Amino acid sequence: MVTVKQLPREEYWLPGHAACPGCPASLGLRMLGKALEGRFVLVVPAGCTTVIQGMYPKTPSRVPLLNIAFAASAAAATGLRAALELRGIDVPVVVWAGDGGTVDIGLQALSGAAERNEDILYICYDNEAYQNTGIQRSGATPPGAWTTTTPLGKRERRKVAPLIVAAHRVPYVATASIAYPLDFVEKVRKAVSKRGFKYIHLHAPCPTGWRFPPSETVEIGRLAVETGAWVLYEIEDGVLRLTGRSASLLDPARRKPLEEYLKRQGRFAHLFRPENEQLLELLKMDIQENWEAIRSALERGGRIL
Ligand code: SF4
Repeated sequence: MVTVKQLPREEYWLPGHAACPGCPASLGLRMLGKALEGRFVLVVPAGCTTVIQGMYPKTPSRVPLLNIAFAASAAAATGLRAALELRGIDVPVVVWAGDGGTVDIGLQALSGAAERNEDILYICYDNEAYQNTGIQRSGATPPGAWTTTTPLGKRERRKVAPLIVAAHRVPYVATASIAYPLDFVEKVRKAVSKRGFKYIHLHAPCPTGWRFPPSETVEIGRLAVETGAWVLYEIEDGVLRLTGRSASLLDPARRKPLEEYLKRQGRFAHLFRPENEQLLELLKMDIQENWEAIRSALERGGRIL
């Protein structure tokens, strides 16, 4: 297990950028920089990180960064990887995309790169909506959540992107959370040690869109895991195992009540009105079925297919 003391003191993402206070994306970028000690190339599609990175030549990023159209990050990373190889340069190429740029708009390029087993690491920081354009719902927004395009609460369930990617039979898929930085760092390091397509889905609570105070980002992320609303796992060569805090939470009796997580966020406030009981049940079913899929994989020795 890596410790904080083993991480470099060096910062690879400098202060002075345009993220909102308490931004999970900037926290994640900071951890990513330390995990790879600044030796990587970043591919960023449209999203909050586009705003954070700023406009050339004024950027807080200390790593080379390619800003690309929403749909194209996995394709651009593929080309970049090939170009670096031709030049004999062996550094990880990392996509850093939000949930909109991953589970919706970027999904076909992501699927193509995964199917070709391109040697890239794709990280989705999942803040569960299109936050920087005004909090519109995405395919990763949980059922029941308020967004500006689901003012009464989202009626649909969410795409389980890590399992969709794992179904491409890639060498490594993991989930992580900005509230568990060392777990994330370890997964990043393990991912880049493997050849082929790697995917990490990073849970990223957004104070702006989820409506909680900016000082509570890490606490909300921790509650998501402790209540089972978010699950930490990794899938290596098609075999799933629970990791970190989630490893002891397969038994629902060991999890905190889901309400402890939901009641801290303005986006779920309406779920506790009697007329929205069904919406709350839909959210609970979504979470429970995610756990059931994990349990059934574990009963098959972790095999997901
Ligand atoms: S909207 Fe959320 S994810 Fe985007 S910059 Fe603000 S805090 Fe960060």
